Amino acid sequence: MIDGQGRTIDYIRISVTDRCNMRCVYCMPEDGVAKTSHHDILNFEEILRLAGLFSRLGVRKIKLTGGEPLCRLGLEELVSGLAAVPGIDCVTLTTNGTGLASRAQALRQAGLAAVNISLDTLDLVLYETITRRPWLDKALEGLEAARAAGLPVKVNCVPLLPQQKLWDVAELARDRAEAVRFIEMMPIGLGKEFSGPGQEAVAAVLEQRFGPLTPVSERLGNGPAVYYALPGFRGRIGFISAVSHRFCESCNRVRLTAEGYLIRCLQYDDGTDLRALLRKGASDAVLLEAMAGEIAAKPEGHHFAAEAGAPDGAADETRRMDQIGG
Ligand code: SAM
Ligand code: SF4
Repeated sequence: MIDGQGRTIDYIRISVTDRCNMRCVYCMPEDGVAKTSHHDILNFEEILRLAGLFSRLGVRKIKLTGGEPLCRLGLEELVSGLAAVPGIDCVTLTTNGTGLASRAQALRQAGLAAVNISLDTLDLVLYETITRRPWLDKALEGLEAARAAGLPVKVNCVPLLPQQKLWDVAELARDRAEAVRFIEMMPIGLGKEFSGPGQEAVAAVLEQRFGPLTPVSERLGNGPAVYYALPGFRGRIGFISAVSHRFCESCNRVRLTAEGYLIRCLQYDDGTDLRALLRKGASDAVLLEAMAGEIAAKPEGHHFAAEAGAPDGAADETRRMDQIGG
């Protein structure tokens, strides 16, 4: 579907849980969060019904996210159902990887097309500092399991601390045709308390170590990353720089929270409570109208740079990233 700004919206990020087994400092509070009850989270039947309707509106790609999506029991069953929805071309997952070792094979068999694994550092101590969990080994086992299962892998890294040794993370792309992407810290939720280095600073660190980054024109996946080659690297280095290289004009997505709230844009609360409609017995036509209305009303873009907050009296985002799904 084409939104009110002329952009094609063919991608949805579906959060399947707001629970997480980690507590990344820029994403979730140390003490955890009030648990949303199972009843308040969309069940698989509801998610599949909505996916079918989104497909009718032109959505072709689904990314499952969270919280930590592997915390949702039976995720394999959901993947298999979503992959079978007519019109849906690919179902992918973004995960911290710590639960992937025992499940990568089954997810692949269920129809998962690819996986993004979040790995902010390969330094054991710093990994625990950032995630508040001593589980770097588990995440790396998950990465290996995904590869062994034949799942295309991308690594996502959010730079935030000087000691992070970003070059070590970049090295994951040296011998494999896999991308490592550096995601700029966004001032959303707890991310407002951090200011990581921007794209140019990260690029400078990598170039000093490995040589010049050369832009490549190929598109890898469905998102806003821009990719570069490094001398001697089989894989690509990507940057997703929402703050320093705003890409709202090419935004192709909407987001569905675990509670069934359809969000137009990461930085706005505006949206529609699809769960309420579903549970009131809304017809497909009513749901489609609500969904299409949200897509049509997608704002022009975020306003990270505006101190005054959301323009035109729109409602600024109040959710944390673990609730939105990134
Ligand atoms: N738990 C899964 C994971 O970590 O990949 C999926 C959910 S997580 C919210 C999705 C992505 O959002 C992760 O790569 C995480 O690093 C990123 N993220 C969280 N807060 C962020 C922020 N303020 N700015 C940029 N990226 C953020
Ligand atoms: Fe959990 Fe992912 Fe947020 Fe880390 S970034 S706390 S793994 S949801």
